[in-house]
Amino acid sequence: MKLRQPNVNAAQWIANGSALDISDLTRGDTMAYGTNVFGLEAQRARLPKDVFRKLQATVSRGEGLDATLADVVAQAMKDWALEKGATHYTHWFQPLTNITAEKHDSFFNPVSDSSTIAEFSGKELIKGEPDASSFPNGGLRSTFEARGYTAWDPTSPAFVLENPNGTFLCIPTAFVSWTGDALDSKIPLLRSMEALSTAAIRALHDLFGDTDSKHVFTTVGPEQEYFLIDEQYFYERPDLVLTGRTLFGTKPPKGQELDEHYFGSIPERVLAYMMEVEDELRKLGVPVKTRHNEVAPGQFELAPMFENSNVGSDHQQLTMMMMQKIARQYGLVCLLHEKPFAGVNGSGKHNNWAMGTDTGHNLLKPGDNPSENVQFLFFCTAVIQAVNKHQALMRASVANVGQDHRLGANEAPPAIISIFLGRELERAYDKIETGSLDPSVISGLLGLGTPVLPELPLDGGDRNRTSPFAFTGNRFEFRALGSSMSLGFTNTVLNTMSAEAIAELTAKVAAKVEAGTELDVAVLEVVKDSWIENKRIVFDGDGYSEAWHVEAKERGLYNLPTTPDALPWYIEPQTVKLFDDFNVLSERELHSRYEVAVEQYISKLNIEGETAASMARTMLLPAALRYLVVLKEAGIPSLVEELTAVIEEFVETIVALETANRDHPEEGEGELGEAIYMRDVVFAAMNECRTVADKLERTVADDLWPVPKYSEMLFIK
Ligand code: ADP
Ligand code: MG
Repeated sequence: MKLRQPNVNAAQWIANGSALDISDLTRGDTMAYGTNVFGLEAQRARLPKDVFRKLQATVSRGEGLDATLADVVAQAMKDWALEKGATHYTHWFQPLTNITAEKHDSFFNPVSDSSTIAEFSGKELIKGEPDASSFPNGGLRSTFEARGYTAWDPTSPAFVLENPNGTFLCIPTAFVSWTGDALDSKIPLLRSMEALSTAAIRALHDLFGDTDSKHVFTTVGPEQEYFLIDEQYFYERPDLVLTGRTLFGTKPPKGQELDEHYFGSIPERVLAYMMEVEDELRKLGVPVKTRHNEVAPGQFELAPMFENSNVGSDHQQLTMMMMQKIARQYGLVCLLHEKPFAGVNGSGKHNNWAMGTDTGHNLLKPGDNPSENVQFLFFCTAVIQAVNKHQALMRASVANVGQDHRLGANEAPPAIISIFLGRELERAYDKIETGSLDPSVISGLLGLGTPVLPELPLDGGDRNRTSPFAFTGNRFEFRALGSSMSLGFTNTVLNTMSAEAIAELTAKVAAKVEAGTELDVAVLEVVKDSWIENKRIVFDGDGYSEAWHVEAKERGLYNLPTTPDALPWYIEPQTVKLFDDFNVLSERELHSRYEVAVEQYISKLNIEGETAASMARTMLLPAALRYLVVLKEAGIPSLVEELTAVIEEFVETIVALETANRDHPEEGEGELGEAIYMRDVVFAAMNECRTVADKLERTVADDLWPVPKYSEMLFIK
C-alpha cells in the first residue's frame, strides 16, 4: 500500500478554487490546473495565438469550431501527450450505460521495417469509428447499419490517463450513429445547454437589457456518496461482485451504527485513499473540494467544485472511475451502488445546478438590490414552473433499479418531487401573490404601485434535508440522483425544461411590455401568475413523513415509487414535445433511451435473481445443511426441528425464485410489462428468499456461514 504525505497541493487547490468566481468556472477555467490535462495552460503554451483564440471562443462562448484548426490542435495535443509518455490515444465516450467507453489506437505507424513515426491528424482527432455495435442503443442501430462515430468535443479538455505500464491520451467525444442519432449522454446534454443558453440570452437581451452576455452556461457540482469495504470481503461475496449489492445479509446489531461515524474522524487507510484520489483527480483537472464520512458506517462523500455541466459531467465520470480504480491499491473496493446494504443508508448523488452568464453572473443568485431581484425572480420562477410541469420526468430521469431501494422506500429523498425554497423566499412569493408586503417587516423595498419587492435573503441556506429539490442560496440542489448515475440525462432534463419555461415567461413578459406595461411590473405580474399556477410543487415540511404522501396526493403531485412507474414519462407526449421543441432529443432518440432504461432494469433484476438463487442453493443452503448435521450429532432434537423447519421454508423460497426467474411473461406484454413482472414477481421472490436466508444467518454457526457478514464488511476499516 502506498501511503502518502499529506497533500500540500490540496490546500492550493482549494485556495485557487475559492478564488475563482463563477465567470472563471463557466468558462471552464478549472481545467487549466491539471498537469495531465490539455487545458487552457497547455493550449495557450502550445497553440498558435489565433488558433488558441478560436478554440477558446468555442469553449467559452459555445461558438462553432472551424474544422480546419483540427490539424494544428491535433499536432500540439499529440506532442504534449507524447511528452507525458503516451503511446496511444482513445476517443473517450459515454454510451447509454452510465459508464464510459474507450478504444485505444497507437500514435505510432511503421514507416519501414525498423522504424515508426508518431502521427495524429486532425481527422483522427475529430472523428473516430469504434467498432462499438454492442452498446445499448434502444433500436437506433440495427446491425446492418451498425456504424457509430465518435466526434471530438473541444469544449471538454483532453487528458492523459496513467497506468503502471504507460499512459494514453483520452479525447472526450460524442457518440453518434451514422444517421446522426445521438447514441450517448453527452450530445443531448450539449444540446440542452445550447437550448437553455438561447432562451436565457433572449430573456437577458430582450427584457433585462443585458447585452454584454453572449452565452449562458449551466453548472453542476455533484456530491458523491460511496461505500468502502475491504477487498477480501468483496471477493467472497458473488452478489457484490456480480450485482454491486448484497442480496443477503442481516443487519448489524443496533448501536454500532450511525452517529459516531457521521462526520467522525476518517480512518487512516481511508484518508490515505481519499488523498490519493484527490491527487489523481487534481492531475486531471477535477477540483475536489470536500471529503467526509457519511451517515452509514463505511460510507463517505466526495464533492468537487462545480463546473459547466458538460465538463462537470465528464469529470464526474472520471471521478467515479478513479475512485473505483484507486481503491484497489489500498485493498479496498469502492461501491457506487445505490443500496449495497439493506437496512443501512444507501448512496445518492446531490446534483447542484445553476445557470450563469459568460460575464460571470449567476442567474440564480439573488441580487444586492431589488431591481436585480426582478431578474432573479424571473429565472427562479421559471425553474419552479418547469419543475411543477415536468416533475414526473425529473423523477424518471433518476430512476434505476438501485434507486428503487431508496426513493420509494423511507429513505432520502421521497419519490415525490417537490421544491424547498426556504422561508424567506417562499414568503417573498406569498407577498407577491397577495401584494401585501409589510414595509415595516422587510427593508429595502421597491415601491412600484403594484406588488412590492423585498430584498431577498442571500444566505438562504437550506434547512430541509428531506427535500428532493432545494434552493440553496444561489443554486438548486437535486438530491434524488443515484450514486452510480451519470449526470448526463438528469441535467439534460433540468436544462431543457428550464429553457422551455424561460422561453414561455419571456414571451409573456414581452407581450405585457409591448402593451405598455413597465418591465418590473410586467415581470412581477408574470411571476405572480406563474407562482399561483405552480406553487403546489413548493413544500417546506418533512418530505419523509406519511402526512406528506397524503398531502402530495391532494395537491395532485406524482408519487412514482418504482422505476417501472416512472420510466413511461420518458415518452409521454409532453416530454416528446419538450425535447422536440428545443431540438434536444428527437422522438426516436427519446424512445431509444426509454427502451435502454427499461431493458437495463429488466436485465439487472434478472442478474440479481439468478445470482440470489444460485448463492442460496449452492452456498447458503449447504451451510445450513452442514449445521443441521452438527445439531443432529449433538443430539438436541428441539434445535434440529427448529432448523429443519427454516431449511424447508428456505428450499421453498429458492424454488419459487428459480421458477419466477425462468417463467418470464409471454411476448406481447411488451418491455414495460416485463419490467413490471420483474418488480412484482422476481424481486418479490428474491426478498422472500432473503428473509429466510437472513434468519438462517442468525442461526447457523458463524464458522460455517460462507459469506462475510455486515458486521465485518461495515466495521472493519
Ligand atoms: P452541502 O453538503 O451543504 O450540500 P457541499 O459543499 O458538500 O455542500 O457541496 C456543495 C456543492 O455545490 C459543491 O460541489 C459546489 O461546487 C456546488 N455548487 C456551488 N455553487 C454552485 C453553482 N453555482 N452551480 C452548481 N453547483 C454549485
Ligand atoms: Mg448537498
